[in-house]
Amino acid sequence: MLEGFDLAGRVALVTGGGTGIGKAIATLLAERGADLALAARRADRLETAAAEIGEATGRRVVTFAADVTDSEAVERMIAAVVDTFGRLDILINNAGKSSYSGFSKMPPAMWDKDVALNLNAAFYCSHAAIPHLKASGRGAIVNISSQAGISGTAGCGAYSAAKAGLQMFTRVAAMEWGGSNVRVNCVAPGMTATELAQAGWAKTGFDAPGAAKTAFALKRPGTPEEVAQAVVFLACDAASYITGETLAVSGGPGQKGMIDVD
Ligand code: NAD
Repeated sequence: MLEGFDLAGRVALVTGGGTGIGKAIATLLAERGADLALAARRADRLETAAAEIGEATGRRVVTFAADVTDSEAVERMIAAVVDTFGRLDILINNAGKSSYSGFSKMPPAMWDKDVALNLNAAFYCSHAAIPHLKASGRGAIVNISSQAGISGTAGCGAYSAAKAGLQMFTRVAAMEWGGSNVRVNCVAPGMTATELAQAGWAKTGFDAPGAAKTAFALKRPGTPEEVAQAVVFLACDAASYITGETLAVSGGPGQKGMIDVD
């Protein structure tokens, strides 16, 4: 049964794979045997992560520069990945970020930027990758959405709308590409304690562990590794009959101000 978790011989591309959740996903994919392409705007910034993952896992890890909100740059990047490895089996659309503003004060350019990064980019990467994922015979896409795309987050409205759109992109792409055995799934993380998130919490004085006690059933923020395990499961043959789904990795429903009875 555990053969379904083996990724030997496969090539995975992780956007935003040098930091946070993307780096945890890349590390676990390589531990399962996949060779890796890591992409971000600047390839040089990815080199440390690539060297670290390559050394720890013995897998081939190559970095590629692309702004994933630029469709032409994405096409060049996917072509370079396939030139380098000769194939592409797994695409993880992970690059993403939220701006912060209420709708009343949000400049339209901020809306456009959040939708470009958190929704359009996943379409651009998937569209450029799909011929190669079909050729793989068992291609898999995993889109990284957010709990904000399920329940919404005030002050992160453009991001919430884009992440919700990413879940619908997942469903429709799964319908269109299932006949070529390309599966498309989505993971929606909740509050995740990446290094950057923790630094942000420290800087603003936000008590994330305190907030998590009432916000989530499991009463703590998640870790990048916990998100990565769900993502890698969906990328593996172990999930061969799962497509079009969004899996929340968010610590479960919270008490929302109700009395804790246990
Ligand atoms: P992060 O900032 O560490 O990672 C984002 C990555 O995206 C970075 O490596 C960055 O270089 C890359 N990136 C940003 N803009 C890009 C662009 N235009 N082109 C190419 N690469 C670009 O943040 P993270 O917390 O690890 O987030 C990873 C994903 O998880 C994002 O999609 C985010 O929305 C989602 N998410 C995170 C949390 C959380 O609490 N950390 C919660 C829910 C969802």
